[in-house]
Amino acid sequence: MVRIENIIEKVEQNHPNSNVDLIRRAYLFSALNHRGQTRASGEPYLVHPLAVADILADMRLDEVSVSTGLLHDVVEDTLVDLDTLRNYFGEEITYLVDGLTKIAQISNLSKAEQQAENVRKMVLAMITDVRVVLIKLADRLHNMRTMEFLKPEKRARISQETLDIYAPIAHRLGMGKLRSELEDLSFQNIHPEEYKKLSIEVEARRPELEATLQKITGTIEDRLRENDVPFVQVQGRVKRLYSLWKKLKKRKLTIEQVYDLIAARIITENDKKYCYVALSVIHDLWTPVPERFKDWIAIPRDNLYQSLHTSVISEGGHSFEVQIRTEEMHQIAEEGVAAHWKYKESKLGKHEDDENLDSLRKTVEKLLLPLVETTQENKDSKDFIESLKLDLYPKDVYAFTPMGKVIQLPRGATPIDFAYAIHSEVGDKCVGAKINGRMVALRNEIRNGDVIEILTNPNSKPSRDWLNHVVTSRARNHIRHWIAEQQRTESIELGRKLFEKEAEKFQLSAKKLFSSGEADLKRIANEYGLGRIEDLMASIGYGKTLPRNVIAKYLGPEKFAELDPDKKKESAIQSGVKAVKKFIGLGEDAIIVKGVDNLLLTRARCCNPLKGEEIIGYISLGKGIVVHNKNCKNVAQLMINKERIVEVEWAKNDTESVQSAKLLAITENRTGMLAGITNAIAEIKTSIRNVSANVSSDERGLIEVTVEVFDKKHLDRVISSIKKVSGVIEVERVNNSG
Ligand code: MN
Repeated sequence: MVRIENIIEKVEQNHPNSNVDLIRRAYLFSALNHRGQTRASGEPYLVHPLAVADILADMRLDEVSVSTGLLHDVVEDTLVDLDTLRNYFGEEITYLVDGLTKIAQISNLSKAEQQAENVRKMVLAMITDVRVVLIKLADRLHNMRTMEFLKPEKRARISQETLDIYAPIAHRLGMGKLRSELEDLSFQNIHPEEYKKLSIEVEARRPELEATLQKITGTIEDRLRENDVPFVQVQGRVKRLYSLWKKLKKRKLTIEQVYDLIAARIITENDKKYCYVALSVIHDLWTPVPERFKDWIAIPRDNLYQSLHTSVISEGGHSFEVQIRTEEMHQIAEEGVAAHWKYKESKLGKHEDDENLDSLRKTVEKLLLPLVETTQENKDSKDFIESLKLDLYPKDVYAFTPMGKVIQLPRGATPIDFAYAIHSEVGDKCVGAKINGRMVALRNEIRNGDVIEILTNPNSKPSRDWLNHVVTSRARNHIRHWIAEQQRTESIELGRKLFEKEAEKFQLSAKKLFSSGEADLKRIANEYGLGRIEDLMASIGYGKTLPRNVIAKYLGPEKFAELDPDKKKESAIQSGVKAVKKFIGLGEDAIIVKGVDNLLLTRARCCNPLKGEEIIGYISLGKGIVVHNKNCKNVAQLMINKERIVEVEWAKNDTESVQSAKLLAITENRTGMLAGITNAIAEIKTSIRNVSANVSSDERGLIEVTVEVFDKKHLDRVISSIKKVSGVIEVERVNNSG
């Protein structure tokens, strides 16, 4: 087990002015909260955070990162919450631990292999600080090193995730050593049999390979000395098992057929010209394989890797690779981003470190970007590289179901999008949502890492209003589809009602019409270009076809004229006012209007009628019936098309409906008016939706309040209680214009 004092020593060496007391406190806090917990191996849990902190100290990270390493699992695995952590360790560490906890949630939850690409993008989206990446990689490395006590399936799953997500990230960051270790460990745990077989095969050849390597490296060293090339080291190595295995699989080879099992590496002193000199020495010594030479020094790889690669043919006729690089390039090849810290050796205080961190952050960002850009068309990444946050995948957010399924959504998505992404049924029946355990409005924007629970009710239906709160086409299409379906059902029903009423005016029995008159109705439907009677009814309900015209076709011109009730009384009904009267005091055949707007029964926006007020309906083209207050100034005009006027009345005992009404209070211009009015409204337990205040040209207060009321009676009560407020001169209802 690593000792905390060893870690502190390393940090002090790398950062002489660091506050190592923080590390001690983090250690104690971690030990205290993980006490009693054990790892699968049976060791105390603390072993793990200590090992992670040690890896971070080796990467030369500062005391904050090392302390975070010690604390990285406390929120995930103990009762400590973020607030507690903040009290003890402040904002920065809490922020880092939070990032790590969110990533840990992904790892714990994701299982489906096909989501690997998603998960990787998601992890990247959650990395809002370069230190989070490095700590996460250290965490994963230690877990991979110590997985022998886990069940084989779990080992394979974690290893697959490592191969899919963390090895590529390490690769992008140029951390060659860490990546190799992660890959070999993953290979070993995913394909234990093949790993065993291959390592036995390699081991069997090892003495021979080592001998060959020794001969080669000896020869290289001699030649470099003869030519005065300043070099630090010549290494010989046997190919790593994972890359060997990949090669065998890809080319369908056996190990006997692979010649480049070994490779040599020359590490020169820190001047790239030594690399080129060394290269000429090698090419002079052995014949290079054409087209196998790569100059990654002149053109570094985008993960900052620099080296010369060449393959040569040895005396035995076998080819092998030689890599040539400077000491500094070598360190970058092995440690990648972490090596940058070493070269920016800081003997100074905090400020310098911050600057290092900032430039490092930018480097990391540039490096990780290609990992997420593969499926993203956003090319002008300059802007967000400049932003301080590492917002690597700004177009998408990733959220979870309570069962841990990952749902990828565009930014701006709401729980409604989420619900439809799960299943159209879930979307259609959704009534509410909990984000991270808290109830939220359905229009709430989803953030990365949110765990979302959708509440459903089998009786619930989508709302047209949802269209304003969704961003996915999937949700939009489902809602539109539902509206269209619903509209059709409603319009058939409404059309049938309107048609029956019209038929009665002509003394025709609706029942008979639909039974014995079926063939005629079908014929008429066809005349309108419609297939079925149902379609004809839908067309009537939708306002496209007038029931009167259908009756005319049914009766024929002569009979129609004879039976037409309006013809008989036409002279009697001259003015619109009379017509209105006719529709007041409505009979049982009136169409029932519920308080809540339906798709085909909408409240006119000009007068916004309230429950209890006298109303009439107007069949408008494509909108179904629009309900107006009978006193609305627009009604008289609508009476010109009086065949489109229908009788409507409010449904009785319909208590569920709440409507908004806008009131204007004219008051004396003095302070406290607004408070007085809102108090008066609140006292009668009425909700206020909106308030605005103004002063008129004649120095009077103009206060507009939008209140939620159940019916006209309720509104009257609101008006009279506002009138009672001292200073209020007048209160009136304001109709929405237009
Ligand atoms: Mn951990």
